[in-house]
Amino acid sequence: MKVGFIGLGVMGQSMAGHILEAGHELFVFNRTKSKANNLVEQGATWLDTPKEVAEAAELVITIVGYPKDIEEVYYGESGLFAGAHSKSLFIDMTTSTPSLAVQLADKGKELNVGVLDAPVTGGDVGAREGRLAVLVGGHEADLKKAKTVIDTFAANVTHFGEHGAGQHAKAVNQIMVAGTMLGLAEMMTYAKTAELPLDKIVKTIGSGAASNRSLDNYGPRIIQDDYTPGFFVKHFVKDLKIALDESKKMELELPMTELAHKLYTQLAEAGHSDEGTQAIVKLWWDGEFNG
Ligand code: NAP
Repeated sequence: MKVGFIGLGVMGQSMAGHILEAGHELFVFNRTKSKANNLVEQGATWLDTPKEVAEAAELVITIVGYPKDIEEVYYGESGLFAGAHSKSLFIDMTTSTPSLAVQLADKGKELNVGVLDAPVTGGDVGAREGRLAVLVGGHEADLKKAKTVIDTFAANVTHFGEHGAGQHAKAVNQIMVAGTMLGLAEMMTYAKTAELPLDKIVKTIGSGAASNRSLDNYGPRIIQDDYTPGFFVKHFVKDLKIALDESKKMELELPMTELAHKLYTQLAEAGHSDEGTQAIVKLWWDGEFNG
C-alpha cells in the first residue's frame, strides 16, 4: 500500500520503520527534516509538505505532538486536507482531544475522506518492538482498510466506537498511568530511604500483585539515572489536562488525576519538561518533598 507518515519523533520513527520493513511504499514528512534521514536511507521518500504526502498516499498516519500541531498538519494551506483525493484515508495517532477528532472527521466527511482517531499506548519500547495497543474511534470499515498497515507496529487494535471514542479511551489509559507513575515514584522513594536494593525491588514487585508497565519501563531507567524520554513530561501534562477537561464536561471528580497533573506541571515548571515521565522521582529525590 502507498502509506504516508507525518511526525517522526520518538514514536513515529519506530512506527514508520515497521511499515517500511513490511514492504509498504512510504512517503514521509516531519517539521525537522533531518529526523527522516534514517527512513529515507532505508527507502522512504521525503516530501516537502503534508499536502504532497496526501496526494502521494492512500493512507496517511499522523503522530505529532499537540492538538495545535494536528491543526497545522491537517488544515494548513499545504495541509493534508488540501491534498485529499477520492482514495484518501487519514488516521491521527497523536494523543489529542475527542472534540478535535470529531472536527477532523466532520471535515473529512465534507471532502468524502475517511478519518480515524487512533491514539496508541505502549511507550517508546512498545513502538520499537512493534507491539503497541491502538485505540480506535471512527468507522469500522475505514479501520478494516488500514488494519494490515497498523498491524505492522501493533499487537492490539481495538475499535471503541464513533469518532472521538479512541481519544476518550486514551484519556482513560492516561488516568491509569497517572496512578502507576505516582505509585512508582513513591515506592522507589520509600525503598531507597529504607535502603532496600532497588534492582531487587523492581524485579520482585514486577512479578507480583503490583506489577505494571510503568514499573517495567521506567523502574530500571530510574535506577540508572536515565531521564531521557521515553515519554515526555510535557506530553503527559497535556494528556492529563485533556483527561481533566473531559471529566469536567462529564461532571466527574478525579482527585488522583488532578494531583498527577499538579505534580507533573510542577516538574515541568522546574525545567524538566523535555525529560521522560520517570523524572517525577526528582520531586522527591531532589528534595522538593523531603526537605
Ligand atoms: P515527539 O518525539 O515530540 O514527536 C512528535 C513529532 O511530530 C516530532 O518529530 C515533531 O517534529 C513532529 N511535528 C510536530 N508538529 C509538526 C508539524 N506541524 N508538522 C510536521 N511534524 C510535526 O513525541 P512522541 O513521543 O513521538 O509523541 C508523539 C505523540 O504521541 C504525542 O501526542 C504523545 O503524547 C503521544 N504518545 C507518546 C508516547 C511515548 O511514550 N513517547 C506513547 C503514546 C503516545 P520535530 O522533530 O520538529 O519536533
